[in-house]
This record gives sequence, structure tokens and C-alpha cells, in this order.
Amino acid sequence: MRMTKVIIFDLDNTLYNEKEYVISGFKAVALFLAREKSLDYCTVYSSLLESFVINGRGNNFNYMCSKLNINNRIISRLVDVYREHCPEIILREDIELFLLELSREYNLCLLTNGWLLPQKMKVESLKLDRYFDTIFYSQQDGLDFAKPHPKYFMQVLQFYKIEASEALMIGDDPVADIQGAKKLNMPYFQVSNELDDNEKQQIIQFLHDNIQ
Ligand SMILES: [Mg+2]
Repeated sequence: MRMTKVIIFDLDNTLYNEKEYVISGFKAVALFLAREKSLDYCTVYSSLLESFVINGRGNNFNYMCSKLNINNRIISRLVDVYREHCPEIILREDIELFLLELSREYNLCLLTNGWLLPQKMKVESLKLDRYFDTIFYSQQDGLDFAKPHPKYFMQVLQFYKIEASEALMIGDDPVADIQGAKKLNMPYFQVSNELDDNEKQQIIQFLHDNIQ
């Protein structure tokens, strides 16, 4: 008998590359500043990208504002524009097929950290409701219960009325996803960044072997 009943996926950097989201958000911010402040779109966009290449995510708006001499009081507005923008992201075709294939035999659940609105908009852009029968947003009540906190892992188990051993957690984050699963003795699989062919094969192998 098949042991695994529910496959729980993380979203960012597991099903798609989060860099794509960041880039899409920077474009929305550059467009906003071009419209509202008559700034040059390309200048704003390239300084945001430059900041991302140098420092990664975080403080990108500060960097851009100080470089372009913009009063940084506008930053909170830019954060809203970023978080509320409709993301231009798509699922890689092979990942789409992989999810489709899995969804025929298993219940698929999405368990994602991140603020509610942006996560919901990502889910919509990636059309994830086609493959996932449940979606849990672990930061919908704030940061306290974000993965690796067990609260939402437990909610998934309760929803499906399964034991932790009957789930498989798939995610990229060694703390949020992997430690979260380990705490509950839930089987897990760590991906490096955006599922690759080798990882997909290993997951299929695990599901195949995990039979009693
Ligand atoms: Mg992730």
C-alpha cells in the first residue's frame, strides 16, 4: 500500500525562481515612479537591479532612493506597490507536467510563508489552483506561525486526517521547510532552487519506494 497520501510543497524557490518575482516587482515600482514622479523608468529599474546584484534582497529601495536623490519617505509606498503588484511569473512547463502527474495520484497541498496578499497573487499568476487541492498561508496571522512553526504543518495533517509519516514535505529552505518537517518526523525532500530533473526523479523514486 502507498504510504504517502499528501505531498506538501513550498512555493518560493521550490516551484519557481523567486528572482523572477523580485524582477517583476522592481518593474512595477519603476513604472510607478515613472508615472507618479516622472522619473526615467530604465534608470530606476537598473538601479534596483544593481542593488539586488550587489546586496541581494532587502534595502533595495533605500539604495535606489539615495542613488537617485529621492526622498526616502516614499519607500513605504514603494513597498506597497511591490507587494500589491500583479506578478509576471510563470511555472516552468516541466514543473507544470510534474505537478499534473502527481495530482492524479496524490493530494497536493501548498504550504507557503510570506505575506498573504503577495503569496495569493503569486498563486494566481502561476495558476496553482489547477494542481493543488489545498493552499495554506502560514503568515496569514503574522510572522509567529510561519514555517518552521508546527501550527500549519499540523493543520495540514488534521485537514487530511493523516499522520506525519503519510505526508512528504518538499521545499528549498533548510529551516522553514526541512526543520519544520523534521520536528514532526515528517518525510521531506530538499530541493536546491526550482525543482530540476534530477530532483523530480528522486521524488518519484521516493514515492515509489515508500510503499508498505
Ligand atoms: Mg521557499
